[in-house]
Amino acid sequence: MEYEAVIGLEVHAQVKTRTKMFCGCKNEYGGEPNTHVCPVCLGLPGALPAPNVEAIRQTILTGLMLDCRIAEVCKFDRKNYFYPDQAKNYQITQFDMPLCIGGGVVLDKYAFPKEVQKEVYAAAEKKIRLNRIHLEEDVAKSTHYATESGIDFNRCGTPLMEIVSEADMRTPEEAFAYLTTLKRILNYGDVSDADMEKGQMRCDVNVSVRPVGQTKFGTKCELKNLNSISGARRALAYEIQRQIETVRGGGVITQETRRWDDAAGQTYVMRSKEDAHDYRYFPDPDLLPVRTDSGLRAEAEARLPELPRQKKERLVTALGLSEYQAEVLAADKALGDYFEVAVGDTKHGAAIANYIINDFLATEPDTADIQIPARHFSQLAELVSDGKINSKQAKEVLAEMLVSREEPALIVKKKGLEQVTDLGALEAFCDEAIAANPKSVADYQSGKLGAINALKGFVMKKTKGQANPALVDEVLKKKL
Ligand code: ADP
Ligand code: MG
Ligand code: ZN
Repeated sequence: MEYEAVIGLEVHAQVKTRTKMFCGCKNEYGGEPNTHVCPVCLGLPGALPAPNVEAIRQTILTGLMLDCRIAEVCKFDRKNYFYPDQAKNYQITQFDMPLCIGGGVVLDKYAFPKEVQKEVYAAAEKKIRLNRIHLEEDVAKSTHYATESGIDFNRCGTPLMEIVSEADMRTPEEAFAYLTTLKRILNYGDVSDADMEKGQMRCDVNVSVRPVGQTKFGTKCELKNLNSISGARRALAYEIQRQIETVRGGGVITQETRRWDDAAGQTYVMRSKEDAHDYRYFPDPDLLPVRTDSGLRAEAEARLPELPRQKKERLVTALGLSEYQAEVLAADKALGDYFEVAVGDTKHGAAIANYIINDFLATEPDTADIQIPARHFSQLAELVSDGKINSKQAKEVLAEMLVSREEPALIVKKKGLEQVTDLGALEAFCDEAIAANPKSVADYQSGKLGAINALKGFVMKKTKGQANPALVDEVLKKKL
């Protein structure tokens, strides 16, 4: 029997704000532990939370970018549990009235792992539906040492949104593309840096298997706190295999929470359904419900950016890029913006995209802070379209430009690459070619027009490739 996987993701993303979710402490990491704290985020008795309106705005913006319905009224609830990372013994979250409902993520084809992109480009686009997005506070960060543990409350109380998908994914590669596409959209909206390696985005993976053709879901396992997109893909590949082997061997899957060990390449049981928490959710009596239709929604709407997919469409239709080129450039906001500055109002979009994707990206994978002035790319394209250098020479200039960061025109001069376009000089070379190749001349004149190529080759060799090929062709034809 053939089996397929069913996958749903719960993604936590840190929301970009100046201060924490319910107090005025700085929303900032990397400082001395326990320096951005106050009675509210330390959970001292009697402290009162006040919601951060900017965090609500950013989450509404996320909902708008992901096509969600924005609730007109939402509220905050207490999720009760006892653990050192949350000193007040409950986390403020949203239970039955979240801020954003429904929505979806259309998977970018370029967001899939390289090995499967060919098949993906040949297939139709796939949309992963969302269930909800709610806003909550993050907990403190614990670090376990050999004989003791440390806890840093700088993170406690910082705003966190939880984006819950429907169980619409079927392969580890789709989960990979989902996380990649989602991160890209969060970056475009500037709502979260969403870097999983830095803990700014964390992901719980829910996965079950079922016989192909069966509509009912199988029993799921949840893999907690994956901290990279490729790690999520590896964890899923392992877990799907484990579940399929279990059912094939006559076993049953029990609902449990598992931990992925990336180094060992295995998942382990953390807890079974029997020890599931009862969180005793109830509305937080310290916080009023929030109305979004009193201006918050409109303020978020005013911030809606051009999204990656819209940018891609525009690069194809307005600048003449291929679908692939447009996706590569739209995938990275900083790179896409740089590209658009480079093109400016020239007509060289496709050529510049080619330089950037094929040459620049190969040497400079960090695109956040590009040192080469953008106009150097348009100047290079200009030199080619004006016939000053040919496309082979352009590659040489480009290689030099990426290293020395000098202007292409200067590099052309230094290297003596300028094409010979001086008619007098070209005529002399053509005469020489004709004198030295009587057979080719005779062939051409008897109708074998291809024989002219030998003469052109002669001129190019004599000029070390610097003759303007179109001019040589013209002069030779006239003389013959
Ligand atoms: P829980 O209450 O255990 O967190 P939810 O119903 O809230 O479960 O779902 C959490 C996530 O698990 C969602 O992304 C959902 O799509 C996914 N999910 C639910 N059931 C299954 C299943 N049988 N197989 C795979 N994923 C599932
Ligand atoms: Mg869950
Ligand atoms: Zn505080």
